[in-house]
Amino acid sequence: MSRSFQPLRHYAGGWRASDVKDCADVINPANGEKLARVPLGAKKDVDAAVQAAASAFPEWRRTPPEERIQYLFKLKQLFERHLEELAQICTEENGKTLAESRAELRRAIENVEVACGVPTLMQGYNLEDVAAGIDEMMIRQPLGVVAAITPFNFPAMIPFWFLPYAIACGNTFILKPSERVPLTSQRAFEFIEELDLPPGVVNLVHGGKTVVDVLLEHPQVQAISFVGSTPVAKYVYAKAAAQGKRAQCQGGAKNHVLILPDADLDATTRIVTDSAFGCAGQRCLAISVAVVVGQAQKEFTKAMVDAAGSIRVGNGLDPGVQMGPVITRESKARIADLIGQGVKDGADMLLDGRNGGSAQSAGNFLNPTLLDNLPPLSELSHTEIFGPVLSLVHAETLEDGIDTIRRNSYGNMASIFTTSGAAARKFRYEVPAGNIGVNIGVAAPMAYFPFSGWRDSFFGTVHGQGRDAIEFYTHKKVVVERWPEEWSRRF
Ligand code: NAD
Repeated sequence: MSRSFQPLRHYAGGWRASDVKDCADVINPANGEKLARVPLGAKKDVDAAVQAAASAFPEWRRTPPEERIQYLFKLKQLFERHLEELAQICTEENGKTLAESRAELRRAIENVEVACGVPTLMQGYNLEDVAAGIDEMMIRQPLGVVAAITPFNFPAMIPFWFLPYAIACGNTFILKPSERVPLTSQRAFEFIEELDLPPGVVNLVHGGKTVVDVLLEHPQVQAISFVGSTPVAKYVYAKAAAQGKRAQCQGGAKNHVLILPDADLDATTRIVTDSAFGCAGQRCLAISVAVVVGQAQKEFTKAMVDAAGSIRVGNGLDPGVQMGPVITRESKARIADLIGQGVKDGADMLLDGRNGGSAQSAGNFLNPTLLDNLPPLSELSHTEIFGPVLSLVHAETLEDGIDTIRRNSYGNMASIFTTSGAAARKFRYEVPAGNIGVNIGVAAPMAYFPFSGWRDSFFGTVHGQGRDAIEFYTHKKVVVERWPEEWSRRF
C-alpha cells in the first residue's frame, strides 16, 4: 500500500492520476494517524470511467460467460493469498478488529465464488409449441455500464456484493467507494489489475456526493447499486428513477432482538453482546434494541451488564482487542449526544461508555453503553445510532414484543431468542423485516441468498447477492419464433 500523500488514483481503463484540488484525509480512527489523501472526484473523472466502461462493453458482453468467470476464479485466488494484507488495511482505515476484517473478506470471497456460477445462474428458459409451430424463449442480456456506491462500514465486503455479479453477467462496472475508507478498494483494484481483464471492464472513481450525482445523471450509466444511510438511499433511489435507471438502494437500520423467558441465557447473552458491540455497533445488522419478555428481564439485564462491561476496547490491530473505535470524531460526538438525549428522555443508564478510550485520546473510542427502560417516545427509540449502544426495553408478551418491532420504521433485521418452535415461527411469520434471525445475532445472508431489507432499510425490488444479483444485472428478452418448414425449402 502506498503511504505517500499523493492523492490516490482513479482506475478508468487503467490507473489515472487525479488533478482535482479537492481532497480529503483518510484517518486511522484508532490513533488519528493520517493514512492517505483521497481525491473528491469531479465530473471529468466520472466521464473518463464511463467512457472506459462503455468502450469495453460491446466486446465484454460477447465474451462467453465461461471465459468471463475465469477472471473471477483468479480473483478468488488473489484475495485468498493477500487476505491478511487486505484485512490489515481494512482495520487501519475502518477501525474494526483484525478478526472482523478477516471475516468480511471471507464474505467478499464468497460472493466472488457464487458469481462463478453465472453460466448456470444466467440461463433463461424456453417452451416449444406455445402455438402450433411457434417456440418461445427468455434470454438474459447484460445492461451495459453499471455503478455501485458503497458505505464506510464494510470496505472489503460491500463492493463485492456487486462487482463479481455485474461483470460475470457481461456488464462493465464502476465502483465509488466511501471516501472515508478508500484504501481497501484501492488495494483490491491493484490485485484486480493483475487479472489482465480487458481495460474498462472494472473502474474505480474516488469521491463523494459530486461523483454520485454525476453517475446518477450520466446517460450511459444504466443501473445504480447503493448501500448507505436511509436519507441518501432515498435520494439516490428517487434520482435514479427520475433518470430512468434501474436502482437497488440499501439504507439504514434499527434492529431489534426479542428475548423470551425460555431462551438459553448464556448463549443469548454471548450472541447479543457480539451483535450489539461487534464492529463497534457499526454493522447494518447490529442489534440496537433488546426487547426482553416477562421474567427474562432481571437475569438478562444483569448478564448483559457483565458481558458488555468486560469487552476489551482498543486498536483493532492489537491482539485480544474485541471492539475498535467508531469511524470519526464527529460520529463519536453524535453517538455521545444521542446517549445523553436518551437519558434526558428517561432511560436508565446501566453502563455509560461515553468516556471510552481516555488512555487512547487520539482514537475515536467509546466503550459499550447499556440503557434500560428506554421510553418508546424517546428519539433514541427510532434513530439509527450506529455505535456501541444497546437499549433494553421490556414487554409482557410475545405479541407486545412483536408490536414494538412493528412500530419501528426500519426493516433490515430482527431476531428472536427462544427454545419454542411455535414462538419462532410466529415471529418469522409476522415481523416486517427482510432478514430474520432465530437464535442468531447477526442474520447476514450467505452470498447465495439475497441480502434482504424492507421498509426504510431498502428501496427497490431485487436485492444484492445470489440470484437477485443476476436478476438486477440482466435484462430479460423474450423471443417468439416461427420457422415453418416450407420457408426453408426455398433455399
Ligand atoms: P452514507 O449514506 O453517509 O454514505 C454512503 C455512500 O453515499 C458513500 O459512498 C458516500 O460518499 C455517499 N454519500 C454520502 N452522502 C451523500 C449525499 N448527500 N449524496 C450523494 N451521495 C452521498 O453512509 P455511511 O455513513 O458511509 O454508512 C453507514 C450507513 O450505511 C448506515 O446507515 C448503515 O446502516 C448503512 N448500511 C446499510 C447496509 C444494508 O445492507 N442495508 C449495509 C451497510 C451499511
